[in-house]
Amino acid sequence: RFQVVELGPPIEVFQLNKLCLEDTFPKKINLGVGAYRDENGKPWVLPVVRKMEKQMAEDQTLLHEYLPVLGMENFSAASVSMLLGEGNPAIAEGRAFGVQTLSGTGSLRVGAEFLNKHLKYTTFYYSNPTWENHHLVFMNAGFTQPRTYRYWDANTRAINFAGLIEDLKAAPENSVIILHACAHNPTGIDPTHEQWEKIADVMEERKLFPFFDSAYQGFASGDLDQDAWAVRYFVKRGFELVCAQSYAKNFGLYNERVGNLTLVVSDSSCVARIKSQLTWVVRGMYSNPPAHGARVVANVLANKQLFDEWRDNIKTMSSRVMQMREALRAELIKLGTPGNWDHIVKQIGLFSYTGLTATQAEYLVSKHHVYLLRSGRINICGINPSNVHYLAAAIHDTVTN
Ligand code: PMP
Repeated sequence: RFQVVELGPPIEVFQLNKLCLEDTFPKKINLGVGAYRDENGKPWVLPVVRKMEKQMAEDQTLLHEYLPVLGMENFSAASVSMLLGEGNPAIAEGRAFGVQTLSGTGSLRVGAEFLNKHLKYTTFYYSNPTWENHHLVFMNAGFTQPRTYRYWDANTRAINFAGLIEDLKAAPENSVIILHACAHNPTGIDPTHEQWEKIADVMEERKLFPFFDSAYQGFASGDLDQDAWAVRYFVKRGFELVCAQSYAKNFGLYNERVGNLTLVVSDSSCVARIKSQLTWVVRGMYSNPPAHGARVVANVLANKQLFDEWRDNIKTMSSRVMQMREALRAELIKLGTPGNWDHIVKQIGLFSYTGLTATQAEYLVSKHHVYLLRSGRINICGINPSNVHYLAAAIHDTVTN
């Protein structure tokens, strides 16, 4: 029977990672998968996470009993506060709440399925380009009309704001618009505050529904509040919205699948009904979430001293990324590599959309063992003081070849 199964296409980012791991070339550089690496090129478990895990290992009261379907309440409450800001009136008014989910992807999926099933939304928009999984997650959740809005202008290597606004203006009412809360993946370019205000104007006028994707809070600017500005602004404007939050990057808890779906509605009387239906969405999907990572996050967020330590850990990561952006640009300028490389330092978050073409990316992989996506996106965390010179020389060779 299984002969009918056809081979599926590979997932580019994971295939690239595998190829890099198998490569024995000593100077190879992995700029593919979006995970943090320290200055020695090694994965980094945040010290505050290690500390909490040690504490938890000794705690005999922690059990492996099932969590409720919607997860740990203190975890979700802390996540909502982190996103909206502690004193946010929407929280006080009981119309902002969260449910624990399987990292950012799981939040997107639960949120999308809920919107499709209960609000009958079928059209969704994502930026062109966007994180490659948005399309699949929303389609699998029941959405049927995928559309894109313009975002990146390859010529100026900046946001195509006029195109973005034009596309949103043309969107049918009740479309769900996926918005990157900060550190847009893959371009590393976020709208300015003024641009967010215009986006909100159009979305209000056109009755479009905001679905924020917050996978990098703290990573864009190093400041949790600043990185939540857009979401908070939309809430202040009175939008109802949902937001998928991931702790993969900012807590380094990638494989623990720690996430939260925050919902903000205009009337607190709907909350119990919404939660009851979310319970059924999750029940039919994975029944209930895992506990370990959510406990780590909830404990850290609940303790002032640990929270401060975590913020320092985020600063360590985000400032290293910023330094490496500067270092790469400086090396390219030193080599006289043709082109303007200012965008590398202007972009924020983990990634830089380099402007390198698919052919150039392939050449970098095959000739120089520098692994990056065909879109030209590089993970800045893969750069460190020992490999930045090699990388710049490889880019220089590629561009001038
Ligand atoms: N959204 C965006 C924009 C992302 O970049 C990512 C991670 N690459 C995710 C969501 C989800 O990641 P995870 O499921 O690992 O939290």
